[in-house]
Amino acid sequence: MAPKNEPTFRQSVDMMFNRAVALMDLPPGLEEKIRVCNATYTVRFGVRLRGKIETFTGYRSVHSEHMEPVKGGIRFALSVNQDEVEALAALMTYKCALVEAPFGGSKGGLCINPRDYDEEELERITRRFSYELIKRDLINPAQNVPAPDMGTGEREMAWMADQYKRMNTTDINGAACVTGKPINAGGIQGRVEATGRGVQFALREFFRHPEAVKAAGLEGKLDGKRVIVQGLGNVGFHAAMFLQKEDGCKITGIIEHDGALFAENGLDVEAVRAWIVKHGGVSGYPDARHTSEGAKVLEEDCDILIPAAMEGVINLENAARVKAPLIIEAANGPVTAGADEILREKGCVIIPDMYANAGGVTVSYFEWVKNLSHIRFGRMQRRQEEARHQLIIDELERLDRHLGDAWSMTPHFKEKYLRGADELELVRSGLDDTMRIAYQSMHEVWQERENVTDLRTAAYLCSIQKVAASYKAKGL
Ligand code: NAD
Repeated sequence: MAPKNEPTFRQSVDMMFNRAVALMDLPPGLEEKIRVCNATYTVRFGVRLRGKIETFTGYRSVHSEHMEPVKGGIRFALSVNQDEVEALAALMTYKCALVEAPFGGSKGGLCINPRDYDEEELERITRRFSYELIKRDLINPAQNVPAPDMGTGEREMAWMADQYKRMNTTDINGAACVTGKPINAGGIQGRVEATGRGVQFALREFFRHPEAVKAAGLEGKLDGKRVIVQGLGNVGFHAAMFLQKEDGCKITGIIEHDGALFAENGLDVEAVRAWIVKHGGVSGYPDARHTSEGAKVLEEDCDILIPAAMEGVINLENAARVKAPLIIEAANGPVTAGADEILREKGCVIIPDMYANAGGVTVSYFEWVKNLSHIRFGRMQRRQEEARHQLIIDELERLDRHLGDAWSMTPHFKEKYLRGADELELVRSGLDDTMRIAYQSMHEVWQERENVTDLRTAAYLCSIQKVAASYKAKGL
């Protein structure tokens, strides 16, 4: 993590905010109102485990309530602390505003190493933590809606939702109290892959803008680009796998908690993931060079660097040695404010976290809407859409018969055209649209405002503008 002489994560986020806000003309006092974190709740609770009571510390921070509910993940990690959840809650405010998800920003965390407990123990701890948050409306479909983050996933979200329902038996919208749930517990197709998918869509949109590609000193398309990814968890795995399988990228480096793998000709992302699941880390993986000094691989030559593990990994100590011309921040806060400055001076282009990993909250938004509407996306339209397409196919087939050998339908056109979109396709389409539009809004500010020289400042400008407009409309 960041060296001692660097500002904390929250200070780092504030510094980036300040850099952007200096270019804006906000009404007096509004800048401070937007920057500060509204409230942070700390809870200490005991759970009887293995014959003794163990005390845990958890947090839920609410950064901005200009829109409600507030939204943000819950993280299970030993490193969780108040400064971190406040920084992450602030990023959630800006992220939701940037991708136009109608939420304020929040974040939570529990100081725990999930690997130290078995499933039954984890369930009891999670339910107890949820109980503490639910009774203070810090988990509530109308006020505060958590989601997965580091160390948590579908399983924990299902426990939280169930705990809420046990405590609010008559709330018909109870399932919307948390997102990232499994499908059979009110989840939505495509949520697990969403953040990594969003990283892929973000890169695709970036490469649709030749001037952006040129600014990073790169050329051409995504196809063939050499990528190094740090953290092959939920976000890093999906991003790397989709980029490899669907965009022709070569994943030359994978950095994990126990070291890194490197292979000039590309690593098989799914095989590495399977190895990690089985062995707990990358050590011992065949067909690649292994180094125990994982963080050093952040400094290797590549076209695109994807830090997807944790905050502060590119900092004052190593920033000058990072060679990647393009960094996409799949994790929250992987580049400190000091490192950001060094990298900008070197000409490195950074696609900022508040945009790059917004795929998660975007699909969470779709899930929340699905829960409130109590119907799966596409259920009403799908067959009707197919019936209308059938009409056209019938006409084309008539034409086909009439024209004989002179004309025929392209192979597979009929099957592809006839099939109405299912929920997964609709979710991916909504996510793609969101990522494209949000990129375009940042890109315009980056390219057209003379005093804006980087995408991060552009992203802050877009989102602060929206938060400010929302406060203004409220009359604050
Ligand atoms: P995760 O727990 O699924 O994965 C994290 C991965 O990083 C694990 O494989 C872990 O072994 C690895 N790791 C831990 N320490 C490391 C180290 N020192 N060096 C290299 N690898 C290390 O977590 P996740 O959900 O993928 O989240 C990763 C990042 O993405 C976090 O910053 C999180 O806030 C952010 N994020 C997640 C989501 C989401 O939907 N899950 C959404 C937005 C942002």
